[in-house]
Amino acid sequence: MTVSAIPRARSVAERMSARAQAYDASGEFPSADFDDLRDAGLLGLMVPRRLGGLGASFAEYADVAVELGAGAGATALIFNMHASVTGALAHTPDDLVRAFGAPDSFFESRDRVLRAAADGSLYAVAMSERGVGSRLSKVATAYERTAAGFRITGSKTFVSGAGHADAYLVAARDHTADEPRVSYFLVPAGDGVRVEPTWDALGMRATGSHDLHLDTEVGRDALVGGIEGAALLLAQVMPQWLVASYAAVYVGVARAVLDHGAKHLRERGLHTLPAVRARMGRADTRVAAAALVVAEAARRVAEDPGGQETNRWVWRAKLAAGDTAAEVASSVLEAAGASATRRGHPLERLYRDARCGALQPATSDVCADWLGARAVGDDPDEAPRW
Ligand SMILES: Cc1cc2nc3c(=O)[nH]c(=O)nc-3n(C[C@H](O)[C@H](O)[C@H](O)COP(=O)(O)OP(=O)(O)OC[C@H]3O[C@@H](n4cnc5c(N)ncnc54)[C@H](O)[C@@H]3O)c2cc1C
Repeated sequence: MTVSAIPRARSVAERMSARAQAYDASGEFPSADFDDLRDAGLLGLMVPRRLGGLGASFAEYADVAVELGAGAGATALIFNMHASVTGALAHTPDDLVRAFGAPDSFFESRDRVLRAAADGSLYAVAMSERGVGSRLSKVATAYERTAAGFRITGSKTFVSGAGHADAYLVAARDHTADEPRVSYFLVPAGDGVRVEPTWDALGMRATGSHDLHLDTEVGRDALVGGIEGAALLLAQVMPQWLVASYAAVYVGVARAVLDHGAKHLRERGLHTLPAVRARMGRADTRVAAAALVVAEAARRVAEDPGGQETNRWVWRAKLAAGDTAAEVASSVLEAAGASATRRGHPLERLYRDARCGALQPATSDVCADWLGARAVGDDPDEAPRW
């Protein structure tokens, strides 16, 4: 890219930060944030330049996501879902997709989807289901072939940005297959796609991660990659968009904790207390360490996507960022005292938002197990992760 994306992201993030409290309180979709992101051309961040986008690498995405996460975590998470869809489409090499058997028509529809993002369309991800979480191999949402394309029926949950996206990346299974055959479809919003407002959660409240009910028919070009059954394989060989892209958002959230913490401590005159300073010193070091792990993972993804060592760093990044955000938010809140727990205080919101990092897939426990298996010389992918 794109020397220009970081300053643009920083400037939008400043405005997002000023609105974060109000969106958290109302739980509304952060429309003004997305107006700004759209105006700054950031919905085209991952879109190749030949299609009107900024052509960012994964490493550049991570830098932008840290900035946005520091501004407003919930907005950065919705943006992350959009970047996952556009980034995975833009970065999967043509040769690889061809080797999987994708028809020529796929490239045309892929370019159409990406060009629309550069023009301001927003995409969301509808993978998780109640009782299943994000385990792709267990999704119950069904698809069947029809004369014109595919019929998709089922229900999703935790769909960030639901009701405000132009299309949803939906994971669905072919129930007639013996092995789990799970495919991705890009399903346009509209008839047959209904949002049920169910999101009233502890943190990341402005993501509006509501339930989505699907009973709709889509054309053949909605099948992502042009081939059926690719979802599980992609999750294993290129885990970055499923595992590590959130990590950068939570590094941003952790950075915001440090900034708002320092401000509060100085305002209250607590910043000279040795115990308080020690908490801030530890928090500062932990955030810097997590940021470095995320940056190293992102650099490796950009240079050697899907490589064994790259994937190891990807899992490390998610674990480091998820745990660091939650632990730093908890410690800094304690240093700041009870007045920072009042509704409306930034540290109160950040404490709740930061708690979500370890819960998003792959959860911290799953990351630790994957990394532990690798550390003792076992194959971490032997146990099914998805
Ligand atoms: C703020 C927020 C936004 C989200 N946005 C989206 C979105 O836009 N789209 C979307 O599809 N989903 C989204 N999700 C959902 C998310 O992707 C997960 O699917 C969901 O958080 C998992 O659900 P769960 O925690 O109920 O269940 P589970 O994943 O089942 O986790 C429950 C417990 O089981 C453990 N566990 C899970 N899998 C394994 C395993 N393989 N091996 C060992 N232990 C395991 C976990 O560590 C955890 O302790 C969002 C979630 C949050 C919190």
